Amino acid sequence: MQTQPKASHFIDGQHVEDTAGEVIDVIYPYTGEVIATLHSATPAIVDMALAAAKGAQAAWAAMTGVERGRVLRRAADIMRERNHDLSVLETYDTGKPYQETSVADATSGADAFEYFGGLAGALTGEHIPLAGGDFVYTRREALGVCVGIGAWNYPTQIACWKAAPALTCGNTMVFKPSETTPLSALKVAEILIEAGAPKGVFNVVQGLGAVGASLIGDPRVAKVSLTGSVPTGKKVYAAAAAGLRHVTMELGGKSPIVIFDDADLECAVSGAILGNFYSSGQVCSNGTRVFVQKGIKDAFLKRLGERLQNVIMGDPQDPDVNFGPMVSAAQRKIVQDYIKKGVVEGARLVAGGQTPDRDGFFIEPTVFADVTDDMTIAREEIFGPVMCVLDFEDEAEALKRANATEFGLAASVFTKDLTRAHRMSAGFEAGTCYINTHNLAPVEAPFGGSKLSGVGRENSKLAINHYSEMKTVYVAMNDVEAPF
Ligand code: NAD
Repeated sequence: MQTQPKASHFIDGQHVEDTAGEVIDVIYPYTGEVIATLHSATPAIVDMALAAAKGAQAAWAAMTGVERGRVLRRAADIMRERNHDLSVLETYDTGKPYQETSVADATSGADAFEYFGGLAGALTGEHIPLAGGDFVYTRREALGVCVGIGAWNYPTQIACWKAAPALTCGNTMVFKPSETTPLSALKVAEILIEAGAPKGVFNVVQGLGAVGASLIGDPRVAKVSLTGSVPTGKKVYAAAAAGLRHVTMELGGKSPIVIFDDADLECAVSGAILGNFYSSGQVCSNGTRVFVQKGIKDAFLKRLGERLQNVIMGDPQDPDVNFGPMVSAAQRKIVQDYIKKGVVEGARLVAGGQTPDRDGFFIEPTVFADVTDDMTIAREEIFGPVMCVLDFEDEAEALKRANATEFGLAASVFTKDLTRAHRMSAGFEAGTCYINTHNLAPVEAPFGGSKLSGVGRENSKLAINHYSEMKTVYVAMNDVEAPF
């Protein structure tokens, strides 16, 4: 497959290059080889992208919702038709197994375009009757130019989850992918043009954090939506606040999975595997603190150990492989250091922990047992395949400890006790809670974090509120009465 794109950026309907920008080498995590070379956006490129988005916005917003929705739904169809090629590219970009990318990336992006495309024609304001026949009507209006900034774990999905609601509401977007995984967003931009989006409606510029920062600081920008880590979120939120821009922040987590003695063991083990090892652990909502009630702990660890025998690590393009490398050497080093810390701080390593002697940024799926709340591995987001198993005695204790974190992205409970499941879900301090599963994020449901894990929600009808604002129009039906 040709992994080198035609040019680094996509602006105003065209591939655009400026070789004066800093070189970005795109590395295939399975081999460590350079598979594409791009250039970071120069100030001229940033300006060109914002000018294109600004120039296209009024006409795009003036189209009817049905017309905008038609474009998005066509984009969804094209993405589904090309799912194989898009998934192969996503696997080159991220190292995630094709087994995952073929069902979770372009497909999830297509779902977003289809869902929001379907909503576009249904966006309306309200009629509010008042005294004496006066009334107010509200107009749901676009914000203007939105900036999207992505993380490297789900590059296609993140681009689509931001573009779909933004474009639906009549906004235009400049999207900056992560410098680690810059390829797929360019495909999304091409597909939108093919689907009939006017030039300038969705633009992609490449670059590191400084490019993101320069986008946020531009007065033409009305809204910033970031998917990234908490430290970056704090910087981006502060920069956006300086210009009073709207924000959506999808940030990191250290989510709990609470498994009670009465849980279905097989489902609980599956949930813990999905919530720790999918995408080699590089998922924001991962349930990396697995609280297991004492009565089921031994059975849980035994079954988990057996199921880990089914890991197939290898060439991520091979459809049988179910465990890929980390995205980069740097990310692997971070994870290796956490594993060392876990051992030093006294956690019991019960599986993995090693770096396989092979090419690629692999690290074994790792399980620590007897983890305590104060250990570094139980407090900080690792963003790698490291599961921490903690013991607990009763429900009140589990809930208190599950919530004892600055993060609040997701939480799940495994139990057959119906009332306990709902009590726990009500008590969890997290944006998304799961009962007897973990890590599903359908476009129909709101997704986002509490506490340090984020601001606002993506997906679902709620996302519309984060990409539009209401204008109030007061209509007087009577003569104006003034005091003098
Ligand atoms: P990161 O914070 O390092 O970078 C995210 C993006 O922000 C990149 O595109 C980066 O170039 C850009 N950036 C960095 N500094 C910036 C600045 N000062 N101004 C503007 N942009 C800047 O995150 P990452 O390492 O790419 O991704 C991993 C993190 O993302 C994890 O913490 C993970 O939990 C989080 N994440 C969250 C969600 C979610 O939906 N909540 C989803 C995926 C990933």
